[in-house]
Amino acid sequence: MPKKKHKRPWPVFIAIVLAMIVGTLLGKNQTLFGISFYSVFDVFGNIFLNALTLVVVPLVSSSIITGIARIGGEQSFGRLGLKMFAFYLGTSLIAILIGLFFVNMIHPGVAGSMPIEPDQHQTAVAQLQTNMPQSQALVNVLMQIVPSNIVAAFSQTQMLGLIFFSLLFGYAVSKIDPHPSSILQGFWQGVFQAMIKITHMVMKFLPYGVFCLVAKVFMTTGLQSLGSLALFFLTVILGLATFMFIGLSILLKMVGRVKPMRHLKAMSPALVTAFSTSSSSATLPITIDCVEKRAGVSNRICSLVIPLGTSINMSGSALYECVAAMFVAQVYGIEISIVTQFLVVFMALITSIGVAGIPSASLVAILVILKVIGLPPEGIGLFIAVDRLLDMCRTTVNVYSDSCCAVLVARSEGEDEVLTRELVSDVD
Ligand code: ASP
Repeated sequence: MPKKKHKRPWPVFIAIVLAMIVGTLLGKNQTLFGISFYSVFDVFGNIFLNALTLVVVPLVSSSIITGIARIGGEQSFGRLGLKMFAFYLGTSLIAILIGLFFVNMIHPGVAGSMPIEPDQHQTAVAQLQTNMPQSQALVNVLMQIVPSNIVAAFSQTQMLGLIFFSLLFGYAVSKIDPHPSSILQGFWQGVFQAMIKITHMVMKFLPYGVFCLVAKVFMTTGLQSLGSLALFFLTVILGLATFMFIGLSILLKMVGRVKPMRHLKAMSPALVTAFSTSSSSATLPITIDCVEKRAGVSNRICSLVIPLGTSINMSGSALYECVAAMFVAQVYGIEISIVTQFLVVFMALITSIGVAGIPSASLVAILVILKVIGLPPEGIGLFIAVDRLLDMCRTTVNVYSDSCCAVLVARSEGEDEVLTRELVSDVD
């Protein structure tokens, strides 16, 4: 395949900035000929999101099945799995500790009275509670891992069940007779390539989709919501930025021996998509494409580390959960002992594994943590106004952290090509 220079990411960045301005200026109620701008952006944004999400189930399953089928028979199989989980847990733990550091330094919840709107609390909590009672949340995550009906798991996009089945299926394919095994591998390889092709087509609409999604958020949230919650917002942003630009860069440089800036550049299409969609699942096709084509990680590593990481490695969300729980405690004036802080860290690590790659999924996990450390669930209402904006940022970090894990695993497996090549095209 001839190599092409990659397209500049500027149109997407311009779309984001324009959308922030247009969204904030228009607000939610502006209309033109009786049609509200909000509903127009809503429809087109959702169509774009659906087009991205469309390929997720076949892409994840085909990618994991082909990946495991290929290496299931190899001796390196167990080693690779161990490395993956070590990097997932390691990066999430670093993220949480960075968040804990900043929330203890800045004390965003002590800084003054919080404008609490009771209605906002009640609605948010009621919504979350009908979705999932806290006591059941962890049990539900565990139960989802082994679904009783794989077709139901596929149709409901239950990622954990889907991943578990794909791992088992791929392993089984590596152990059956060579002839049927190669037919099945060829089939799933074809599915994978076709899904990537569809992703390329959808990516042609990236700037427009991004514009609609970001404008929509700023129409409802607006920049003014930042005012009252500025310190909380700042704490989360500082934590996420420190983890992404310093923590992960050090890991890439020291452990992976690659240039962090080059990786950041290679991942830019996936990062802007994560930012605008607030969904690492919807971004998954683009993440795979960037890690493989632009960062140069082999398909063998990428097809395993990225789909798994997208579902269980949520470093940005883990950091956010920790800061949010500590913030609520500070606002309610509750002294959080070192032991309880350890509990928060542990819970953030565990619950982030079960956080789905969809917008606002962390809120359920935060509810669980609040419950465990004995804080009222209404606490969620204290920061719900800025959750949507912070969701955009933490999703970007989630996606970047997965991509860094893929690079680190690939480098530790002796892949010298990673981040050395000229960037190749992300569009055909
Ligand atoms: N929106 C996040 C993601 O998709 C999950 C969350 O933290 O709410 O990665």
